[in-house]
Amino acid sequence: MIIKPHHFLDIIKLYGAGIDVFVPDQQMNHDFYKVANEIIAHPEAELCLTKEADDICQPCIKLEKGVCVDPLTKYPGFFQKDSYNKTLDQRMLEVFALDEMKTYSAKVLCAILYQNAEKIFLVWQEEAADAVQKRYDLFCIGAKRYLGL
Ligand code: SF4
Repeated sequence: MIIKPHHFLDIIKLYGAGIDVFVPDQQMNHDFYKVANEIIAHPEAELCLTKEADDICQPCIKLEKGVCVDPLTKYPGFFQKDSYNKTLDQRMLEVFALDEMKTYSAKVLCAILYQNAEKIFLVWQEEAADAVQKRYDLFCIGAKRYLGL
């Protein structure tokens, strides 16, 4: 599977929030549910990382010619989700020392993120502090469940 790093972190975070089975998003039609269910059920699934549109994005109504055209106005300096997401993914690649050219099993990727989980605070710089704390807390709960710790 091809996945954006921040989408992977979101899946584990939602798993930590108690979602065991993901359901389709009727409005956006993206494949978040499909990829998430596959990753939760198969920790050995092989993942390639990308900053571009991933397997989740492919059927999404907001994907046009490979670019996410969803508008985003809540963070200064960003006007579309595409550039914001690419910024998040670039930061994740850097702070977690991830390689777009490598393949990771879902379990190994989760372990890398969990071992360096405090770096989540370096990635979501635009988000309110309490929201990032919640993201960190839920990711850690989800990662421990996923890794069987
Ligand atoms: S295309 Fe944009 S809105 Fe759709 S899943 Fe991808 S990032 Fe999300």
